[in-house]
Amino acid sequence: MTLTEQLIATIRDVPDFPKQGILFKDITPVLADPKLSERVSHAFLAYWRNKDIDGIVGIESRGFIFGMKLAQELQVPFIPVRKAGKLPFQTIKHSYDLEYGSAEMEIHIDAIKPGQNILIHDDLLATGGTALAAAELIKKCEGNVGGYSFMVELEFLKGRESLCADKKIDIQTLVGF
Ligand code: AMP
Repeated sequence: MTLTEQLIATIRDVPDFPKQGILFKDITPVLADPKLSERVSHAFLAYWRNKDIDGIVGIESRGFIFGMKLAQELQVPFIPVRKAGKLPFQTIKHSYDLEYGSAEMEIHIDAIKPGQNILIHDDLLATGGTALAAAELIKKCEGNVGGYSFMVELEFLKGRESLCADKKIDIQTLVGF
């Protein structure tokens, strides 16, 4: 089986979570399978190994899992981006709109050096709003967004188009639904 076929067979659909009408793509069965999760890690590493990445931003919380592993393998810093109020040191904030209301994300003020090329990683790309908010934080730190990687892409939500709106950017996804 290809990695994509194995992910399709393993990722669990949970209807109406966290609210009515959302089909949640649950990656915990992937995490529970060490051989499969190792394959996932290898796929991320193979893609980014020879690209010029100076650090990885992982988006809370499922972006921490493979993001941290990839950062170790590439021997670059792992940088958590978290919901407001969770990071202990001085932070830079960015507010962004959700379907209903808004949310705020933060990064530590010293996490990125000007000019660094940063990869943004999360478990899933839906509308792209969360990843774009992480990109805004990187820009506020004077870093460059060097690309995006996700395990899952919900293609019908066209998040890829939002991420590429102003310029062509490297986006890796392992499985699309
Ligand atoms: P978006 O900002 O719309 O691209 O949403 C992406 C963020 O929300 C990621 O952090 C995902 O973990 C989470 N997310 C959105 N939709 C889903 C879904 N259907 N299943 C699992 N996670 C989701």
